[in-house]
Amino acid sequence: MVDFPPEFSYLLKVIIVGDSHTGKSCILHRLVHGTFESNQDITIGVDFGTKYIPIQDEIIKFQIWDTAGQESFRSIIRSYYKNIAACFIVYDVCNRVSFENVVNWLRDVDTNSYNEQRRIILVGNKVDLESERQITTAEGQQLAHDNNLDFYECSSKDGTNVQQMFLDLANNIYHDIITKPF
Ligand code: GDP
Ligand code: MG
Repeated sequence: MVDFPPEFSYLLKVIIVGDSHTGKSCILHRLVHGTFESNQDITIGVDFGTKYIPIQDEIIKFQIWDTAGQESFRSIIRSYYKNIAACFIVYDVCNRVSFENVVNWLRDVDTNSYNEQRRIILVGNKVDLESERQITTAEGQQLAHDNNLDFYECSSKDGTNVQQMFLDLANNIYHDIITKPF
């Protein structure tokens, strides 16, 4: 990983949505800083982080927008869907309501983003809490399959899959760019 490269080839906007307390801010913190910060300040509206990922001879700069899940911020969030390269929809594998609400987040992304090539990634977070799990891996996979989404289970606490899902995203988008020019 490169932290402060002088130049980049692509600047891509990514958004992280999902119900409150699913761990969105912790995922962003883990991605950017490599650590678990258990008491993230409550996100007000929208916050963002930056990540540079080198691919082949090029560097992709991700601008990652972290949103608040509260209903009162939904109208603000909607304006951030425009021109996104990708959207992560996060649920908590220990919270069934957050899983059921994925379809609502999906509808928001679908109706508000203009880029038809955007990728949507379904993420089940908190897999470190195996004994409290309410959503099986198979259920997550099924929902992703039914809606044509990429799918990961991760833990921002122990780090499982957090870097990996962004690396895969960078690779997939890079592949899209070089094979399907805008
Ligand atoms: P957000 O509202 O979606 O941004 O959620 P936060 O990132 O603020 O996290 C909500 C709560 O879940 C906090 O108490 C975190 O410490 C906790 N949390 C976040 N990710 C994980 C995880 O992967 N495992 C566990 N056990 N707790 C997590
Ligand atoms: Mg937050």
